[in-house]
Amino acid sequence: LASPESRAAATPMMEQFIEIKAANQDCLLFYRMGDFYELFFDDAVQAAKTLGITLTKRGQHLGKDIPMCGVPVHTADDYLQKLIAHGHRVAVCEQTEDPAEARKRGSKSVVRRDVVRLVTPGTLTEEKLLSPSESNFLMALARVKGMGDEGYALAWLDISTGAFRLVESAGGRLLADIMRIDPKEIIVSDQLFHDDALRPVFDTLGRIVTPQPAVLFDSGSAEGRITRFYGVSTLDGFGAFSRAELAAAAAAIAYIEKTQLSERPPLARPERETSGSTLFIDPATRGNLELLRTLSGQRDGSLLKALDRTVTGGGSRLLAERLMSPLLDTDAINRRLESVGWMLAESDLSDGAREALKSLPDMPRALSRLALNRGGPRDMGSIRQAMESASMLRRLFSDSAAPEEIAEALAAIGELPPKLCALLDAALGDELPLLRRDGGFVRAGYHEELDEMRALRDQSRKVIAGLQQKYAEDTSVKSLKIKHNNVLGYFIEVTAGNAGALTDDAAKATFIHRQTMANAMRFTTTELADLESRIANAADRALTIENEIYDRLSAAIVEASDLIIAAAHATSVIDVSAALAALAEEQGYCRPVVDDSVTFSITAGRHPVVEQALRRQAADPFVANDCDLSPSDGRDDGAIWLLTGPNMGGKSTFLRQNALIAIMAQMGSFVPAGGAHIGVVDRLFSRVGASDDLARGRSTFMVEMVETAAILNQAGPRSLVILDEIGRGTATFDGLSIAWAAIEHLHEVNRCRSLFATHFHELTALSEKLVRLFNATMRVKEWEGDVIFLHEVGPGAADRSYGIQVARLAGLPASVVERARQVLSQLEEGERTNPAHKLIDDLPLFAAEIRQKPAQNAEPSAVEEALAHVNPDNMTPREALEFIYALRAKL
Ligand code: ADP
Repeated sequence: LASPESRAAATPMMEQFIEIKAANQDCLLFYRMGDFYELFFDDAVQAAKTLGITLTKRGQHLGKDIPMCGVPVHTADDYLQKLIAHGHRVAVCEQTEDPAEARKRGSKSVVRRDVVRLVTPGTLTEEKLLSPSESNFLMALARVKGMGDEGYALAWLDISTGAFRLVESAGGRLLADIMRIDPKEIIVSDQLFHDDALRPVFDTLGRIVTPQPAVLFDSGSAEGRITRFYGVSTLDGFGAFSRAELAAAAAAIAYIEKTQLSERPPLARPERETSGSTLFIDPATRGNLELLRTLSGQRDGSLLKALDRTVTGGGSRLLAERLMSPLLDTDAINRRLESVGWMLAESDLSDGAREALKSLPDMPRALSRLALNRGGPRDMGSIRQAMESASMLRRLFSDSAAPEEIAEALAAIGELPPKLCALLDAALGDELPLLRRDGGFVRAGYHEELDEMRALRDQSRKVIAGLQQKYAEDTSVKSLKIKHNNVLGYFIEVTAGNAGALTDDAAKATFIHRQTMANAMRFTTTELADLESRIANAADRALTIENEIYDRLSAAIVEASDLIIAAAHATSVIDVSAALAALAEEQGYCRPVVDDSVTFSITAGRHPVVEQALRRQAADPFVANDCDLSPSDGRDDGAIWLLTGPNMGGKSTFLRQNALIAIMAQMGSFVPAGGAHIGVVDRLFSRVGASDDLARGRSTFMVEMVETAAILNQAGPRSLVILDEIGRGTATFDGLSIAWAAIEHLHEVNRCRSLFATHFHELTALSEKLVRLFNATMRVKEWEGDVIFLHEVGPGAADRSYGIQVARLAGLPASVVERARQVLSQLEEGERTNPAHKLIDDLPLFAAEIRQKPAQNAEPSAVEEALAHVNPDNMTPREALEFIYALRAKL
């Protein structure tokens, strides 16, 4: 399109289009034409398809029709939303001068146009394009040079709320860190984008990752870019940042400048997170545990949905963030638990707070729209109302002895400038229009001249009504009307039949002919023309005044951005604490004891999501179960529970509920249990469910093994591991062997708190050899050949699988069930003659093989003997070297 021939052949307008398009190749170009945004060429084809709108054509280019489609400006948000959701980016190109200006330059001149903004998934601000309960993070990923692939930094920000944070992330944590932040768009440098080491990470993240020119990530100019953005001379007041963090933060800012062009969103100063200060949840586990969304992508059925009782958008976003990033620091966790406990105890206060919060508009999002010049009077109204509600909230708590976290929040709300609140109250009317364009938002009585102009405008309208009556009487034409349109302004209209009354000699002096229509004739008078210009002038002047006031108010609001963002965060903290208290009350949760031990002891634990689902269905209540993986005998290594039981017995539910309880405790929530004592878990691993990855060419079994490998390679002493049905996807003996070896590895090498569910009963024999392995089973009852699931976990091993009974319950044909029974009894006969128990006696323990420590009573070797008697501190370098030669000779 941008070739010289193509340009030469273009009309002036097309030439302009081609030029702007060339500068925004990765975007669809919304080209402003009057009341429409129009798209041309391939953009039009793509957009018409995605939006389901008609593709037409406008003119020709190089002998071919130009494909075209368009969307009305006033409903553009709806279309934008759809395009963004489908992975498009949009450049919005506006007319930047009055068409009259262009005409002055010459009849062929095109109105100047410019891209005013790039709309990308991570830079949205419009209410319609955002979900109130979800953050909309843009993330920049930068790598520290000279440190191999290990040192990365992430900067993420939400221009719709002003949140801005930074963290360093080691290579192994990178994907997990990105997933916990859940950004909508990630920018990386071209170089990094094509780096093979990161290919798997980017493949997993998919199309949210976009490459950007490397200059955005230049760490040399990073500090300058950040200081310029914040209008400060040094970053000293911001805290200490690493070079990679600076590069990531500067890249994020550069991208904001690139997409927002002249406008500047109100960003809080970047806040640094300590690397590794949050619970590491590997990406597979995050998906499998369905924290934010279910595996099928729905919010319903997720843990967040089950826990969320917040009443504000900000609260909901904060809750999601906490859920995605549970903490490791026990003091910080207990601070949050303290707030929830206090809210629970002060239920009158917290109920009152929740009531007050309900009327709290989304302050940061309104603020960001105002700062970006995309807001309107209603956004100002939102800020006013939010400031009032927040102050009310603060007064509510004024006599209370709130715990630290809440007290700090109240203090932040107290910082809201009362002057701004008073100003908005005085200046803004009660009913506010959406757009500033037509005015009408300034309160009567606020500005004297404005009041006068409005009175004049309105009076004159009344005078016109009086004039119509007078003219009708004077001319005896009862149907005479004074009307208004955009071409003529005010005019007098009579039917053609009555026109004579206005054109006769007597009337001629008053009525001036303007227009003859098919059935009517139009006139004006000097009096009417005078009135008209008075009205127009008054209205113009009123609008000018309102616009000035708007700009002043907007500036005053933006001036207070930092305080507003901080106060909004504070209200979210209060909302989350009160909401978690309400949840705990409603669901009967308890406050967990969280400390730095490696205890894991849950009594009467429940699965938060399943429990609520059962209650909604009015089914039998959830059966609570204990779980204790604490180290015994004063040792530091956690226990492993080996859980057997039939399918449908409740094994997966039990595994997941314990992982979820740990997450909830460390995010600072009460937990669904009678009692819980949790030594902080630093990493959570799971291998649950069959999340097929067939699309990427990996079989179920392969996925299972990849995930298991990750766990066995990474789990450490503070980890919590849940493994469900390892080895199920292959032949029985393969599967059993793999499960067997995995348990031994967990016990001997990882030594972490683990839950292992299996249908291989043979594994229960391992408890005879592995001291920290305990057998547990899901209890069932048999009744008239059927199996009844009690969902109770008890000590011991399941004696049978009940697979055939379950199959019968599922409606397998009776003949198949019967045949299966026969086959089973044959197989069991075989098992009796060669039981797995024997394996335990025959097979040396895995531990013995992997540790390869010399047996305690073995003779030391000659080399060991020599080493034992040498004192390196007394050796000269030369002696040391000679000693090494001597050792070598002994081998
Ligand atoms: P398994 O993993 O042993 O096949 P699941 O954990 O999938 O079994 O549980 C099967 C069903 O039993 C679940 O859908 C759930 O509704 C129900 N269930 C599981 N645990 C309990 C429980 N503790 N109390 C009540 N119902 C439960």
